[in-house]
Amino acid sequence: MNISIVIPLFNEEESLPELFSWIEKVMTENNFSYEVIAVDDGSKDNSWKVIKEFSLKNPNIKGIHFQRNYGKSAALQVGFEAVQGDVVITMDADLQDSPDEIPDLYKMISVDGFDLVSGWKKKRYDPLSKTIPTKLFNFATRKVSDINNLHDFNCGLKAYKKEVVKNIEVYGEMHRYIPVIAKWSGYDKITEKAVQHQERKYGKTKFGLERFVNGFLDLMSITFVGRFGKRPMHLFGTLGILSFLLGVFILIYLTITKTVFGVVGMTNRPIFYLGILTIIVGAQLFVAGFLGELIARNGADRNHYNIGEKVGF
Ligand code: UDP
Ligand code: MG
Repeated sequence: MNISIVIPLFNEEESLPELFSWIEKVMTENNFSYEVIAVDDGSKDNSWKVIKEFSLKNPNIKGIHFQRNYGKSAALQVGFEAVQGDVVITMDADLQDSPDEIPDLYKMISVDGFDLVSGWKKKRYDPLSKTIPTKLFNFATRKVSDINNLHDFNCGLKAYKKEVVKNIEVYGEMHRYIPVIAKWSGYDKITEKAVQHQERKYGKTKFGLERFVNGFLDLMSITFVGRFGKRPMHLFGTLGILSFLLGVFILIYLTITKTVFGVVGMTNRPIFYLGILTIIVGAQLFVAGFLGELIARNGADRNHYNIGEKVGF
């Protein structure tokens, strides 16, 4: 099978018929063998009914229905587990992403050999309240992840080699950072393609302002897990040693000023409390590091390394 299209959706009944027909049209015109996996993330409207109807008419259209709303990341993860196509394309259900981009995206993965191609909404049709924080968010993500060639990390329209989606795990609200997660797993042939973007035609956005707070917290978790998830002591231990040594240094200094230079009132000096504080914090950081190591050692995937290829077995 050439292409699997994964569509996470939540209350998108008005958009779905148009979206499915449009995809069908593009796929038949280009003679692709394909499947559409519509993951209904616990919709309260008739989305699931619409999906079932289309699935009856066209066996290429498949649906997965969550009993409740788990979020876009969960929907994508479950979709990724089900895909069979060589190239996997994700797109939003709200018709903001155009299925006409699929043939080019397919070519970039299958012919040009990219692992991941992210859409770039070069000209966006979203309100300013969304585009300005998004710029900031993309800037921070570029800096932290060292993926410098992406303008737009969170575009719903993306294409992947099948291997990539089978080897990454998306949960929480991590869908914003899939390129970063892919890179941590060793898939670094990442690029972008400028794509058409439309205004939302039906319904309204499913993400509010909390997206920015959650987004930055997720960025911190992902960086921590990616860099230190398998060796937490290296982070906590280093910080712990620094903090501890600083405290010891301060207390030695105070002791010398008292014993050698006879300065009285050691405990009245603010720096004394700083010395004690940093020693305690340092010890705590060490303990956090040990606990982290214990947890990492017991984790089921402690020896999980993403093996790219094997020969001679
Ligand atoms: N979505 C989802 N689960 C959610 C929220 C959103 O599956 O809990 C889907 C939604 O139906 C759409 C896509 O994720 O297909 C992007 O959502 P939206 O268009 O609301 O986000 P925006 O374009 O405003 O960033
Ligand atoms: Mg949208």
